[in-house]
Amino acid sequence: MAQQKSRTKTGQAIDTISNFLASPPEGTPAEVIEAFNALGAKQYLPPKLFLETVEQAPIAISITDPAAHILYVNQAFETLTGYTSDELIGKNESVLSSRSTPIEVYQELWETIQQRKVWSGKLVNHRKDKQEYLAELTISPVLNPKGAIAYYLGMHRDVTSVHQLEQRLRFQKDLTEAALDAAPMVMAMVGSDRKVLFDNHAYKALLGDFRGREPVNLFLDALEQQIGFDLGNVCQIGEGFTNIEVRLDPPGSSTPRWFSCSGVRVAELDEAAQNYFKQSDKARCCLLLIANEITGSRNRINEARLNMIRASMAEQQMVQTMREAISGSIFKLQAPLNVIKAALSMPDSSADQSGLRKVLEQALESGDEAMESLHNALPSQTTEQTTLVNINELLHQVMKLSTEKMLAGGIVVDWHPAPVLPGITGRTNALRGLFKYLIDNAVQALGESDQDYREIRLETRQEGQELVVAVMDNGPGVPNVHRIKVFEPFFCGWTQAKEHAGMGLTMAQEAAIGHGGSVEIDADFLGGCRIIVRLPLSGAGGV
Ligand code: FAD
Repeated sequence: MAQQKSRTKTGQAIDTISNFLASPPEGTPAEVIEAFNALGAKQYLPPKLFLETVEQAPIAISITDPAAHILYVNQAFETLTGYTSDELIGKNESVLSSRSTPIEVYQELWETIQQRKVWSGKLVNHRKDKQEYLAELTISPVLNPKGAIAYYLGMHRDVTSVHQLEQRLRFQKDLTEAALDAAPMVMAMVGSDRKVLFDNHAYKALLGDFRGREPVNLFLDALEQQIGFDLGNVCQIGEGFTNIEVRLDPPGSSTPRWFSCSGVRVAELDEAAQNYFKQSDKARCCLLLIANEITGSRNRINEARLNMIRASMAEQQMVQTMREAISGSIFKLQAPLNVIKAALSMPDSSADQSGLRKVLEQALESGDEAMESLHNALPSQTTEQTTLVNINELLHQVMKLSTEKMLAGGIVVDWHPAPVLPGITGRTNALRGLFKYLIDNAVQALGESDQDYREIRLETRQEGQELVVAVMDNGPGVPNVHRIKVFEPFFCGWTQAKEHAGMGLTMAQEAAIGHGGSVEIDADFLGGCRIIVRLPLSGAGGV
């Protein structure tokens, strides 16, 4: 059985050798003829032809006895080793050993072939002139009819240049990988199916920062939204794209991260043997994504912008306070004027007799004048241009503007932005004001609560064609009876009203409606207040 197996393994070559041995040419060693007689194989090829074939085979072939003493070598063996056949016959194959091959390799070689199995591997050999070369060797045992090992057939070739090439390739690969890993920018090679084929240390670090969410998906989603980049059409990107600024919001962190992204198209490796000679008709490409983190410089720019926003918001706030104060005065003045008007409209009033009517008329006249002056003093509302607004960025700005207040109140912010959010067409100042009102209210509510742990939680997400922002605080909450009323002008439910005129939520709602959206208090939320803002993606552009 074992013999049968071994014969199958050594295959056609051994059968052919057996055929050759069936009618050996003159001068064929006696041991070789003996091997043929032992095997008793049938003839398939004329022996002369077989000998010539083996002789002229381009691979170094040797036949040895069971102790590896050489019985036969072909011309290629002589050429490769530099020895003549005469110098080799009777010597052990170890004559080729350069003593650089570890003994374990020889032990494994012998253990294998002695079990009548074929051994293949690499050995360091040297030629007659002591020049070393790497030999790729296959040894097949040749069995006699009793199943005992009669000979070994060895075939080897010089693979030094292949090895050198492999080493150079490995070196190049190690060098490239080391260089890419040392590079501070994030790099990833992505297949058209979004599979990461290769990445560097910076990418892996980012993967950790994003708690296992594949950063490539976040980059690709953001690029799709910003420049309409479609990975499915990566073969068509031509020169690729460069320096596209992308914002990513790591989960659980209030600090967004900014990257300048570039993409280069790379042809996908085609390893299919059938495509060796032909160009694959279906071009497949990958994307080399390079993302340079620019959070630092972006933060500096943002800080400067924030200062400008702070100044402009302070101005806006002042104007708003004036508007609220004057509107309040108009509202309050209107009531007595209405009473005077009503009194004057009464027929046969006793006021006619007492001269009171005249006084009332004068009072009404002065009141109307005061009213007109107040109306004239109302600061006019400026109309703002619409732009593309990133709500995550806007909320981040508002949080920064309120940082001092929140720190003073011992408030913790739990920020849960959608990692990638599409921009909406909107009026930046109006939207900023909207969220500032809501966050200021949350800070005020927490100030009035006796909670030890004070938290404002902010969430953004996309729901269909809407952006949803939830602003939550674990303060006293809004009683159900006031859920609608709080949006009415001059309604103030704070215990410590201070400078509040009760216009914040009115203005917030006005801003949301101006963008085709809404603001509402979540009636189901327990343990504080949750305000939900919904803004259609079309934003103010759709209104
Ligand atoms: P050795 O002491 O001869 O052998 C080292 C270890 O190999 C021993 O400790 C032992 O475990 C094992 N071993 C050696 N001989 C035998 C044996 N007869 N039976 C059982 N175990 C044994 N070697 C090369 O370096 N280059 C070649 O190109 C090469 N071609 C070969 C081709 C054939 C067909 C065969 C059968 C062997 C070939 N060898 C070749 C192996 C060679 O015969 C030596 O075993 C090897 O070179 C190590 O020789 P050594 O004198 O250093 O140590």
